[in-house]
Amino acid sequence: MFADIIIDITHEKLDKIFQYKVPDELADKLVVGTEVEVPFGRGNRLTRGYVVGFSEVCGYDEEKIKDILRIAGRSVAIESRLVALAAWMKESYGGTMIQALKTVLPIRRTEQAKEQRILKRLVSVEEGKKKLEEYLHKNQKARARLMAALLDDEEIDYSLVTKKLNITLAVVRALEEQKVLEVCAREVYRNPVRETRRDETKPVYTREQKQAIETFCRDYENGDRGTYLLYGVTGSGKTEVYMEMIREVVRMGRQAIVLIPEIALTYQTVMRFYRRFGDRVSIMNSRLCAGERYDQMMRAKRGELDVMIGPRSALFTPFPKLGLIVIDEEHESAYKSEQIPRYHARETAQRRAELEGASVVLGSATPSLEAFYRSQTGSIHRMELSARAAGRELPQVHIADMRKELSQGNRSILSAMLRRLMEDRLGKGQQTMLFLNRRGYAGFLSCRSCGYVVKCPHCDVSLSAHQNGKLVCHYCGHEEPAARVCPSCGSQHISGFRAGTQQIEELVKREFPAARVLRMDLDTTRSKEGHEKILAAFANEEADVLVGTQMIVKGHDFPNVTLVGVLAADLSLYAEDYRAAERTFELLTQAAGRAGRGKEMGQVVIQTYSPEHYSIQTAARQDYRAFYQEEMNYRELMGYPPAQHLLAVLASSEDEALLDKGMYYLKQYGEALAKPREVRTIGPASPHVGKVKDVYRRILYLKHKSRPILVEMKDKMEQYIEINKGFSRIRIQFDFDPVQGF
Ligand code: ADP
Ligand code: ZN
Ligand code: ZN
Repeated sequence: MFADIIIDITHEKLDKIFQYKVPDELADKLVVGTEVEVPFGRGNRLTRGYVVGFSEVCGYDEEKIKDILRIAGRSVAIESRLVALAAWMKESYGGTMIQALKTVLPIRRTEQAKEQRILKRLVSVEEGKKKLEEYLHKNQKARARLMAALLDDEEIDYSLVTKKLNITLAVVRALEEQKVLEVCAREVYRNPVRETRRDETKPVYTREQKQAIETFCRDYENGDRGTYLLYGVTGSGKTEVYMEMIREVVRMGRQAIVLIPEIALTYQTVMRFYRRFGDRVSIMNSRLCAGERYDQMMRAKRGELDVMIGPRSALFTPFPKLGLIVIDEEHESAYKSEQIPRYHARETAQRRAELEGASVVLGSATPSLEAFYRSQTGSIHRMELSARAAGRELPQVHIADMRKELSQGNRSILSAMLRRLMEDRLGKGQQTMLFLNRRGYAGFLSCRSCGYVVKCPHCDVSLSAHQNGKLVCHYCGHEEPAARVCPSCGSQHISGFRAGTQQIEELVKREFPAARVLRMDLDTTRSKEGHEKILAAFANEEADVLVGTQMIVKGHDFPNVTLVGVLAADLSLYAEDYRAAERTFELLTQAAGRAGRGKEMGQVVIQTYSPEHYSIQTAARQDYRAFYQEEMNYRELMGYPPAQHLLAVLASSEDEALLDKGMYYLKQYGEALAKPREVRTIGPASPHVGKVKDVYRRILYLKHKSRPILVEMKDKMEQYIEINKGFSRIRIQFDFDPVQGF
């Protein structure tokens, strides 16, 4: 028997798998993830590595294959468990073991942990003052300067001393000899969470909150681990419940990971955790540099942290004794990775929890169909918070039928109802949020005479009009001047089709000249703290109206917002994938949840051209169960997840003919495999973005009730692709139960 060993993926040169022979005495002791000692390289240097797989055949000259020496250490290292998780991810989602390992293991990039030297005062303030006088008396100016600085601060930066105070090493040495100070090295962790006051006051929990907390704690103390769905309407106090659960887990000597979608990972949220748990909390987000992220991982590994908060990748925090993984807003599509391995954090969290004896808590006001389905079938324990905390009521929702508005002569973006309510709020000094569920500015140009849409010549997507008069491609950056007449029919009726956030901002300013308006979208949040600045300004009531894209909908708590307008609910409803209705329901419910989080009752206006659609109707009533029923019927009927599983085979190549040929053979092969297993194949088709940066793309879908059968199909197709030379210039990725349109 042979074992595949990974030596150290943090070294580029070793970023591959080496084969070793498994000696008989180790044969039944090794599993994937075991840390072993092996001779490595020409000098047979003793090196540690991890077992990442086994095989019965030897891929090299058997004479030259070395033996594994022994199992390293006694305890199961944290990395071993993550390696085992990586093996599961590779198996479940496709790709290579190296890709999976790079996803789960904290990798030290070139940035080293910063080392900082500091000077520390050793004498008391009293003695220090005496010394200062002595130096001044002797006219030792440099010593006096340094002493004065050390009296202000017990510890000072060495760099400050040399650069700002202009003090030489000799002076530092002299004071060191007098035992006035010491020079010490301190590894500074680039801790992104700033100091804050600890505040452990808890609210009086509602009956439902208490019940959820008690159920979890009772199970936990009894050693029962499992997955829970905390289904609570917006503002029902889910975060409070997570914090109590975490407290319990920490009390038991274990650590917790809290996943929050990056977009909802606001300063406000982080501060709530920080106040409760102090500096044993850390955060992870994409704004940290690689070095900072690595530091946070190392702090976790050394046991300096109890709680890690972050987006999807924080799931792999190497805690020594992981006890709980919370996934807030579990329905978010951001929990699905768009890189190989295309894992879903929800499934992977459950797997990691199983491997490490932890529990998982999924929280949402609009659970994914997957999670709710599984809570119905019993594999997930459901807990509900049906009322808003502190007795606040859910908002009143109105649907504005934009078809009627048009027939009554209102051609504005704002319905009469929304305009009237906005006026009312401005008069009362209350705030309004206007939500447009699309990115960027005006959107595509289309001809009202012939229907022609201006598209990118490289990417086959419509170009977006920017205010500078140019049309821009959001995939490849291609720019061209906006056409004044239709390139196809010459008509002058060519214009932006729908409004963008910037247009709405301008409209609001025009119609309500007294209103102070803020806008939040990709353009205004590009800078490092753009996001937080806008939210903070709005929270401080420096504006009356906040106009924004989906990014304003998540997780923020503005007590003075009593009106939310959803400007075009249809935009998400007509997206081209099977989750469009689910996503619309989610967005509408979350948007509505922003209204009336303070003492005042909130109101919501949903503007739409399809007022009768069930996802709009049920969202207006905040009736998740009714939505779930309708949507499940549709999924069952069409065989979409979670009723069945869907495996997307994504293929891309610069050579379109080659790609089509490859997909033809792959489909033939897939169908031959599929028949006895009753798997359905669909396609191959061009995704709606058929071509990006001169790369052609095709998708083939496979559908079946059983996930393991689709995994088996994936394995077979991977082998087929590997042995057929025709695929060498085609990139293939597998994606299970895709959550985003392609
Ligand atoms: P969710 O995460 O479900 O949206 P949060 O935990 O953010 O809800 O709670 C919403 C608001 O209600 C927060 O301001 C929170 O401090 C407050 N809150 C939560 N639980 C209670 C409670 N039992 N009593 C009073 N206020 C509460
Ligand atoms: Zn035209
Ligand atoms: Zn383009």
